[in-house]
Amino acid sequence: MSLALYDTWSRTVRPFAPLQTDHVGLYCCGPTVYDYAHIGNLRTYVFEDVLRRVLMLNGYEVRHIVNITDVGHLVSDADEGEDKMEKGSRRTGKSAWEIAEHYTEAFLSDWRALNLLEPTAWPRATDHIPEQLEFIAALQRKGYTYQTADGLYFDTTRQDDYGHLARLDRAGLRAGTRVAMGEKRDVSDFALWKFSPMNSKRQMEWDSPWGRGFPGWHIECSAMSAKHLGPWFDIHCGGEDHIGVHHSNEIAQTQACHGTRLANFWMHGHFLMLDDRKMAKTDGDFVRLQTLVDQGIDPLAYRYLCLTAHYRSTLRFTEEAITAAQSALDRLRKAYLDWPGGGTADEGFVRRFDAEVGQDLNLPRALAVLWELVRSELPAATRRATVDHFDTVLGLRLAEWQVLAPDIPANVAALLTVREEARAGKNWAEADRLRDALRALGWRVEDSASGQRLSPDEK
Ligand code: AMP
Ligand code: ZN
Repeated sequence: MSLALYDTWSRTVRPFAPLQTDHVGLYCCGPTVYDYAHIGNLRTYVFEDVLRRVLMLNGYEVRHIVNITDVGHLVSDADEGEDKMEKGSRRTGKSAWEIAEHYTEAFLSDWRALNLLEPTAWPRATDHIPEQLEFIAALQRKGYTYQTADGLYFDTTRQDDYGHLARLDRAGLRAGTRVAMGEKRDVSDFALWKFSPMNSKRQMEWDSPWGRGFPGWHIECSAMSAKHLGPWFDIHCGGEDHIGVHHSNEIAQTQACHGTRLANFWMHGHFLMLDDRKMAKTDGDFVRLQTLVDQGIDPLAYRYLCLTAHYRSTLRFTEEAITAAQSALDRLRKAYLDWPGGGTADEGFVRRFDAEVGQDLNLPRALAVLWELVRSELPAATRRATVDHFDTVLGLRLAEWQVLAPDIPANVAALLTVREEARAGKNWAEADRLRDALRALGWRVEDSASGQRLSPDEK
């Protein structure tokens, strides 16, 4: 097999080869846990999951790290405004720590419902304060920092190629800047450490050689990726919004400290749009995976929808699109269930599928190969074995699907799938909540050794 991936750094699709034979280090910027994830965020994680599965298909062992940002991400990516966690705390009346716990749990439940593979580690920013302090101290020793009244900043003017990832026009940025810079010397400079405000106490704060405060969002990812993968690893991913600020700053810090640009490949998923808007957490009324489940949509139908668009094109979310994805998935499941086991995969189809996914993850073309196979005249057992191979990348859990009695409504079936995920993840509180939700719809669910048993609630 051959694998070529688009690298934002070089702006080209180029052949992928691991830095160390057979091992691939993959770092994906994780959620900021001050609110629920929306289906836009989840599109990015589906893209990264497919990438990981394709790397595995190529025989690589993947060390996959997804961080949890539970401190330091300010309301504006440019170091302005309040910490999102502390703001979330004011909004809900819970402590910043409780907020982080609650939304991390909710995130993990979405993660499992989409059949995303468990990463090797989920490092939390608040568990890596010493590593971040050490990183900042090294930057200071090398002369890359300066202090202002509100924090310690990174001096981006020290690097001629600062912003190369985003092809930043630095002169243009400076000329056009209208934002209040405070004591920042250059518009691109960014906070490594922010001081706690003088007149109020933060819930999340730590002592440092520069004063009590909290880390900047960018240093978290540089420090945690270096700790878990080393300062030069294979692939760093995130959504396209990270190119201009967050990833440019991660690169700047790591280059200053370790002399590397952190990752050999930089890959970015394009946005999910709702009408003509980018879906964003700050909008408030965003669509969650749970919103879809409540409408009778299976989480895996959302996964299927993500596969229908190339990760480097924007995907518009509409009612029609998700309904079409659900019916395509239903058709696929139904066809698959009718096929007997015991066959072997068709080599020609496998080769074509592998070639499509190996060409910068061309999932829309891979799905076309899948449907061609489904409609083909090949023996049913051969089709089943071939689809089993495809599903190692698609992740639609076709082999695990069971028919439910036809009189079970779609929203009940969807809740049951989500509950199965919660059970698999030992999230008993969520499983209980879903049992109550099913009860409210008139269905009783019992757990048995062979899985969940559903019956109409007689009372
Ligand atoms: P956050 O939790 O806001 O830090 O974002 C988590 C991930 O979702 C990051 O990789 C973002 O780049 C990505 N992201 C944010 N909004 C969208 C969107 N509308 N579509 C796709 N990805 C997004
Ligand atoms: Zn990050």
